[in-house]
Amino acid sequence: MAASGRSREERWSLAGKTALVTGGSKGIGRAIVEELAGFGVRVHTCARSDADLQECLRRWGADGRLARVTASACDVAVRDDRERLVAAATEELGGKLDILVNNAGQTMFRAATETTAEDYARIMATNLESSFHLSQLAHPLLAAAAAASPGGEASSVVNVSSIGGFVSYPALSVYSATKGAMNQLTRSLAVEWAKDNVRVNCVAPGGIRTDIASNSGMKLDPEVARKMWEAEMARVPVRRIGEPEEIASLVAFLCMPAASYITGQVICADGGRTVAA
Ligand code: NAD
Repeated sequence: MAASGRSREERWSLAGKTALVTGGSKGIGRAIVEELAGFGVRVHTCARSDADLQECLRRWGADGRLARVTASACDVAVRDDRERLVAAATEELGGKLDILVNNAGQTMFRAATETTAEDYARIMATNLESSFHLSQLAHPLLAAAAAASPGGEASSVVNVSSIGGFVSYPALSVYSATKGAMNQLTRSLAVEWAKDNVRVNCVAPGGIRTDIASNSGMKLDPEVARKMWEAEMARVPVRRIGEPEEIASLVAFLCMPAASYITGQVICADGGRTVAA
């Protein structure tokens, strides 16, 4: 339903909504969990490490709306784990799911000629297959939530891809291929699921201040890393790295009635990196 008949407050609200956010223990995912919960969304999240999640839950437990966040350990690269995750989220969220954020992802800096079949399978399963399968598993819940919404509000899937889906870096071919495919998955599901009142959008971050590079297993000489970083920043018009909160606010907006006419879009949040000459 169009947001035009609603008050400004209603258009910029997520009150009463529920969400599943993957990869919420760190970085961008943690910021998304905190942003959505701050808007009153009941959030279930996951990460690979249970210890990391327990640490987050301890911190969130003392903090108002964040205290309602629930979590379960899950490796999104594993099919059975994904099924268990959606079942756990459904139970924790009272059988209702309005929002799915496919954020969990892994990068891999490796020359194409040195990439093994196992490397390839792992990155594909973590980034692309998980986004497709979790969307598939969530679809009946998202469609039911939209059908039951008193104001006819759409449910939302938001994928987190990367500017690597648009521009090319050496030694990032498999990661970038997963992100380009996530962009097109977003457009395809948006067209297919519009009839169910499920909007599907995607946020493509540029360089964001998180631990993702150190989690990639990449071992780089600090001097080489510094030079690579300087070269990258020189191509970002705003001349700075992004912060996780700058992605989280865009994700929250895309789930609101304020974004009711936006579906099938891939929005870069990259300080202008992809449009610079
Ligand atoms: P991060 O490494 O800081 O955090 C990743 C989170 O995902 C963690 O909570 C981790 O537990 C979880 N995760 C990773 N693999 C998982 C798996 N197999 N199963 C379950 N959970 C898993 O990373 P980040 O920088 O916050 O990245 C989040 C997303 O943003 C990723 O999809 C990434 O590709 C994308 N992205 C990040 C940047 C950046 O510069 N940080 C740029 C573009 C895109």
